[in-house]
Amino acid sequence: MMREYCMQCWRELKTPVELCPHCGRPPRPEAFEAKLIAALRHPRAAVRRLACVLLAQKDSTPAAVAALEAVAASDPDGYVREAALLALGELGEAESLPLLRQAAQHETLRARRAAALALSRLQRKRNETP
Ligand SMILES: [Zn+2]
Repeated sequence: MMREYCMQCWRELKTPVELCPHCGRPPRPEAFEAKLIAALRHPRAAVRRLACVLLAQKDSTPAAVAALEAVAASDPDGYVREAALLALGELGEAESLPLLRQAAQHETLRARRAAALALSRLQRKRNETP
């Protein structure tokens, strides 16, 4: 049988797990992110929205930003677009600015507010980092 190790703390895992019982982190962070990105296409809007929230809590990666931008631009559910816009503000990548500016003008009221909030967060974040 193949041995499994947590890639965060390198202790052995007896069974495949979502979170390592030793350090409490996902044993394979990139696999966890891939699952969240896949969940952005889930048929249930509540799942897509939760995936946006969870992606916003992780470190920014190009794959996550690209996936969230696609959701923010074209998800049929306004609440999901709102969550994606907020997530992009949290991740704070300058490449998201045009999309956030566009959404702040042309989205539904809730999503416009989310875009405006995301823009101010993103700009604050970028002013803090030299
Ligand atoms: Zn671990």
